[in-house]
Amino acid sequence: MRIPFFSRSEAGFILSRPSVIAVGIALAVTVVTGIFAEEQNRAVHRQSARAAVSEQLGLVRARLEGNINSNLQLIRGLVAVIATQPDIDQEQFGRIAGNLLGNQPQVRNVAAAPGLVVSLMYPIEGNEKAIGLDYRKNDQQREAALRAVGTGQMVLAGPVDLLQGGQGFIGRFPVFVENPDGTDRLWGLVSAVVDVERLYADSGLYDPNLSVDIAISGRDAAASDTTVFFGRPEIFADDPVVSEVSLPAGRWRISAVPRGGWSDMPENVWVVRLVILAGGLLVIVPILIAGQLYDQRRTHIKEMRLRQDEMERLSQRLKLALDTSKIGIWEFNLDTNVLTWDSRMRELYDIPESAEASQYRSWSECLHPDDREQAEREYWAAVETGGMYHSEFRVILTDGSIRWIRAIGAVHNDVRGQRYIVGVNWDVSSDIQLKTRLMTAKQNAEVRNRELEDARSQMEHNSLHDSLTGLPNRRFVDQQLLDRGAEKAPTALLHIDLDRFKHINDTLGHAAGDAMLVHAASVLKANTGADDFVARIGGDEFVIAVMEPMSQCDLSALAGRIIEEMRHPVPFENHECRFGVSIGIAKADRCLEDFGQRMLIDADIALYRAKSNGRNRFEFFSDTLKAEIVRNKQVADDILSGLERQEFLPYFQPQFDARTLKIVGVEALARWAHPDKGVLTPDVFLKIADELNVVPLIDRTILEQALWQKMRWDAVGISIPRLSVNVSAGRLHDTDLMSSLDGLSIEPGTVSFELLESIFLDEGDETITANFERLRDKGIDIEIDDFGTGYASIVSLIHLNPARLKIDRQLITPIVHSESQRRLVASIIDIGQSLGIKVVAEGVETMEHVAILRDLGCDKLQGYAFAAPMSSAELIQFVREERWRKVA
Ligand code: C2E
Ligand code: CA
Ligand code: CA
Repeated sequence: MRIPFFSRSEAGFILSRPSVIAVGIALAVTVVTGIFAEEQNRAVHRQSARAAVSEQLGLVRARLEGNINSNLQLIRGLVAVIATQPDIDQEQFGRIAGNLLGNQPQVRNVAAAPGLVVSLMYPIEGNEKAIGLDYRKNDQQREAALRAVGTGQMVLAGPVDLLQGGQGFIGRFPVFVENPDGTDRLWGLVSAVVDVERLYADSGLYDPNLSVDIAISGRDAAASDTTVFFGRPEIFADDPVVSEVSLPAGRWRISAVPRGGWSDMPENVWVVRLVILAGGLLVIVPILIAGQLYDQRRTHIKEMRLRQDEMERLSQRLKLALDTSKIGIWEFNLDTNVLTWDSRMRELYDIPESAEASQYRSWSECLHPDDREQAEREYWAAVETGGMYHSEFRVILTDGSIRWIRAIGAVHNDVRGQRYIVGVNWDVSSDIQLKTRLMTAKQNAEVRNRELEDARSQMEHNSLHDSLTGLPNRRFVDQQLLDRGAEKAPTALLHIDLDRFKHINDTLGHAAGDAMLVHAASVLKANTGADDFVARIGGDEFVIAVMEPMSQCDLSALAGRIIEEMRHPVPFENHECRFGVSIGIAKADRCLEDFGQRMLIDADIALYRAKSNGRNRFEFFSDTLKAEIVRNKQVADDILSGLERQEFLPYFQPQFDARTLKIVGVEALARWAHPDKGVLTPDVFLKIADELNVVPLIDRTILEQALWQKMRWDAVGISIPRLSVNVSAGRLHDTDLMSSLDGLSIEPGTVSFELLESIFLDEGDETITANFERLRDKGIDIEIDDFGTGYASIVSLIHLNPARLKIDRQLITPIVHSESQRRLVASIIDIGQSLGIKVVAEGVETMEHVAILRDLGCDKLQGYAFAAPMSSAELIQFVREERWRKVA
């Protein structure tokens, strides 16, 4: 239930409602009337109470007055008797008084005092004490007595306490007697005592039926005396009904109130109140109902006024909207076929106000012929279905120009049941123009976008392809291999590297190099399937991604085929270019997350292995290969720290004159004095050191230490005429080679640099040739090492003008058994001799070798037949003991 709660303003509003005011007034009137009626009721009640009291009081007063007056009247009779008989004696007095008062018990006694001294008394008994009383001498009674004498009038005193006991009123009468001359003379006083109690009782003051409380004041009949001698004095203060008791001489004030006090509450008070309430309700309820109805009416009127205002505002807004929006309104009565247009519609259709336009054709005739059919169809469709009408069409204006109109409408029925279609029209020509312009712009933009898209995809293609061969490039491969979401992933990857490409490029120029690359690309393409792709990922590096699963055998066959075809010489201009390829193969391991990228790395590792195993071959990536790489990594770390700790040192292998068998020199060979593994030979570390690019460093330490040892040998008187050191290709490239040699004391003609034949295959560098010249200038000889293993053309070697050729061990070893090998070695020696180049044989392992080589004319010999490489200390020992001669 909602507990009504009003704010101050709400309360104010409610109170100001006319119905509430009316009810308020009615309520006020009813309340005032009620109060008034109640007051009236009480007043009437009070009056009647007073009247009742007054009535009773009157009765008592009358009785009092009657009793007193009748008593005093009797005494006056006695006075009259005395006036005529001034010398009355007791006996007469008693008799007369007895007669007068015999049946008047209220008067207790009568006394006569001639000469103001009491001498006569009735009744005597009980009043004897009073006889003889002289008023002049009695203090209590003198005043009243003299007053009576002075005034000549009867005086009523009391109530006074009587000598005989009790209380009484005393009436004193002066008695005058007539002198014989006719004047009056005071005889004395007659006094009568009226018994108070008896008087009260007889007057009804003790009447138990009396319903009022009475009080009397005015002692000694002096009305001004307020002393209350009967009843409660408070009665005089309680708004009593007051009256006066008239006495023969003076008055008493007598007052009365109802017994128990005045009652303010009339007995009919509740009846009167109920009547007032009923009357009030009879007035208020109809007013309340009427007020409520009035209020409702007022609210309704107010609401109606608000709605009317709202309507006015709306219609004003609508008018404003229509005026500013230039929208025309039309209406077509579908029952009477009358068309109604507002002035805006006429403006839109360019129809003058005066012209008739109340027919359907007034509209349809304005339509552009091309749009008419559709516009009319849309119109009638809306009329038939009674749904929304939506249309857009052109109209032709009087000057022949065209305006685009958009129309919207709806069918409806009015209160009389007539069917209408009502709608609006407005000019959308600028919209349409804008739309057309936008459309054209959009089309242009689309064309432009397509061009951009083409350019972009061309650029993307370019960025992912090699311009020379048209093959995908490294980026493409990376993308393909990285794209895990790709539908197909390669199953294997061949990493192909051209051998000798640099040489061709350097010697025959870039055009030749380019032609080789194009040729290589075509060979690769020709050997791959439609699904596979070939990419050029570096200068002379290619990749084949094999998509279809292939066995190891098939992959080997493919690699073998490629190697074989690449071997064929390629004609370029007048040259026959030859190059080989090395191939690394890796198969996809789909368990790995980034197997694509891994495969590329693995194939590279395998390629590296293929190259280091001697080119023109392929290698598969394998776990052993991987393990080896891990191991190599450890060795590499070891080598670096070994270099730091200077663990690399030279061993020396002596070389001998073939005919005299004299020591003609030593070759210094690197050894690694490994702290744990002992003395290690180059096959353990050289390859890795090469990868680490520290071979030049090793070469340098070996040279330095060997030179130092040679000084030792000189010092101990051992003559070693020549020292040979091995020099890596890397060291030859070194532009600082010369300056590093400057610090060393090298006696010209005592040091040779051995260079591998293979160096001259791949390299054709300016620095090398320059360095050669400088070495020769320093008196350092150059020897071609491992001669006969490479493919270097003899011509290019001769061009370098070396001091010696060292025939490789591979050629020497078989000469003992093979005649043809012997002839090969013999022809090398012949060429050398004809060019003035000395020839050294390596790997001379037996005395048979020694004899054959000496017969063939070889100059020097080196090999186990004489001595294995040894430390400097051993060499000293070896030379001193001339051990080789013992063997020989
Ligand atoms: P290399 O220059 O051809 O050196 C000759 C190698 O043949 C030496 O192996 C030597 O011990 C071995 N040898 C000598 N006589 C015979 C023989 O009668 N029969 C057989 N089977 N072998 C013989 P080593 O010392 O293991 O050196 C191997 C290769 O390491 C050297 O071949 C050389 O190319 C390279 N090398 C050695 N020391 C250095 C160095 O200080 N710098 C550079 N760059 N390479 C070095
Ligand atoms: Ca050598
Ligand atoms: Ca050699």
